[in-house]
Amino acid sequence: MTQLILHPGKEKSLLRRHPWIFAGAVERLDGRARAGDTVDVVAGAGRYAGQVLAKAAWSPSSQIRARVWSFAAETIDDAFFKRRVAAAVARRAALPELHGQEGLRLIHAESDGLPGVIADRYGDTVVVQLTSAGADKWRHAIAGALQKATGCARIYERSDSEVRGREGLEPTSGWLVGAAPAGDIVIAEHGVRMKVDIVAGHKTGFYLDQRDNRLLLRQLAAGKRVLNCFCYTGGFSLQALAGGAAEVISIDSSEPALVTGRANLALNAQLEAGRAQWCGANVFDELRRLNEAGERFDLIVLDPPKFAPSASHVERAARAYKDINLNAFRLLAPGGMLMTYSCSGGVSLDVFQRIVAGAALDAGCDARIVRRLQGAADHPVALAFPEGEYLKGLLVQA
Ligand code: SAH
Repeated sequence: MTQLILHPGKEKSLLRRHPWIFAGAVERLDGRARAGDTVDVVAGAGRYAGQVLAKAAWSPSSQIRARVWSFAAETIDDAFFKRRVAAAVARRAALPELHGQEGLRLIHAESDGLPGVIADRYGDTVVVQLTSAGADKWRHAIAGALQKATGCARIYERSDSEVRGREGLEPTSGWLVGAAPAGDIVIAEHGVRMKVDIVAGHKTGFYLDQRDNRLLLRQLAAGKRVLNCFCYTGGFSLQALAGGAAEVISIDSSEPALVTGRANLALNAQLEAGRAQWCGANVFDELRRLNEAGERFDLIVLDPPKFAPSASHVERAARAYKDINLNAFRLLAPGGMLMTYSCSGGVSLDVFQRIVAGAALDAGCDARIVRRLQGAADHPVALAFPEGEYLKGLLVQA
């Protein structure tokens, strides 16, 4: 097998079971490998010289030059993917809080030992997103393993994430197993029905990671005036209505997202639609406008897109987070609560908390954290892969 020889000392992160091998760690390739091929990762000169430390997928055009499939002496073949996928599905099955969820993340990439592989289940449809050269090479093994582990009727590939470009991969989408279902895909989340557009929606169609946090909002919403910023298809909005909110204003700049949001509300006849308003706008501008109009809210959600996809964007992202949080604090009624998130990998919880603290200070809002928030249990974070912890949130009370 082709060997990837590391520079001396560059085995350290691998010994800690971190799955990424950066370009700067690679001394040379002994043999030939095409994008996605499996290579043996071998320690350079020093204490571990010549030892095979891992099997990894070669990715010649990415700064992450190889991603580890396994730290053991196992063959990377169809059976390997069957084992890994089955293990990921079994971990969800072992968590009672996930039982009966119609929308569920089955594979969370590196944190489930499958770099570049995302799989989300919506009823009997599974959507996979492959973002690395290695994952791309093994799509049929992964799809077969998913079908075996879940018994799902159909599998759709939605590999159109921009990060594929960095791996030298073209976008690709289509049915890997089965064909499009006759009607819309609809899941129930905490008893609220939500349409999932797996073909044109964001990510694989839905933000499953916020499931627990939507329930928390619902529990806080009774009688409250709620502002949901970056609402997408209304996940938080509908839970707030289900929790008895007096009024919910939802803002997003995406018209298709708002169309689905309204459709979702119509799907849930039990929710009194008259309490909801949908607003197509840029949140940055709309928060200013609401402040100028003297509006006040008891509960505000800020769940923006990734402002800092990587560490190099952190400064600009920090200014953006500061801006929306500052204007949200100004809009809070006395005793109100702000639920604020960052899903930027490049912004740590520490940094995010400091930004939110600065925003409260500048807004003249005396507030305290009552909860730290994170993604749901089907979005685990491998201890060896802290980068997996992208979603962080704070529930702050004025
Ligand atoms: N809270 C949502 C997920 C939010 S994803 C849920 O629970 O499902 C981020 C959303 O922000 C996307 O829907 C995107 O269309 C929207 N968005 C991005 N930039 C925006 C901006 N400047 N103003 C308003 N919406 C924006």
